[in-house]
Amino acid sequence: GNKNMNAKLVLLGDVGAGKSSLVLRFVKGQFIEFQESTIGAAFFSQTVAVNDATVKFEIWDTAGQERYHSLAPMYYRGAAAAIIVYDITNQASFERAKKWVQELQAQAPGNSNMVMALTGNKADLLDARKVAAEEAQTYAQENGLFFMETSAKTAANVNDVFSEIAKRLPRL
Ligand code: GDP
Ligand code: MG
Repeated sequence: GNKNMNAKLVLLGDVGAGKSSLVLRFVKGQFIEFQESTIGAAFFSQTVAVNDATVKFEIWDTAGQERYHSLAPMYYRGAAAAIIVYDITNQASFERAKKWVQELQAQAPGNSNMVMALTGNKADLLDARKVAAEEAQTYAQENGLFFMETSAKTAANVNDVFSEIAKRLPRL
């Protein structure tokens, strides 16, 4: 039969990595060159179809600044999925992404079913690349995440990340 489900999803990652831009691309099909910094967190929802089911994502786009770190558990607790975003042109953002993965995994077993995606964003800026895709892919594999490079600017792989998450969510 047809199954419709809701799934809480959180985006985590360094400020400037492109979390808000990925959400804007996914939810509204838009890109803004001078996206304003997120304050606290912002909420969006968007539905995707997978096979005979639909998944309504309830998306929490977090700020990323250290001063909002203590709020993060409110957004990832009980989440069915997390997208951990870094910027392929910024090595520090990749290190920050790994810290988020560690923090999420430290919440296990409460979160052990969480679907986690590692996303290397700004893949359109190939000339400025600092993080090799192979390195991120290896890290993701070793830590139970799936990995994709995306561009919120060109839209490359953005819908695919959400579709892949939808496919991996445990079915009722
Ligand atoms: P956040 O702090 O993680 O939410 O990052 P934002 O979404 O605010 O993006 C930070 C800056 O990077 C903004 O100026 C965006 O326009 C830019 N940006 C975001 N995604 C991309 C991308 O895929 N490619 C390029 N070239 N710029 C991007
Ligand atoms: Mg933001």
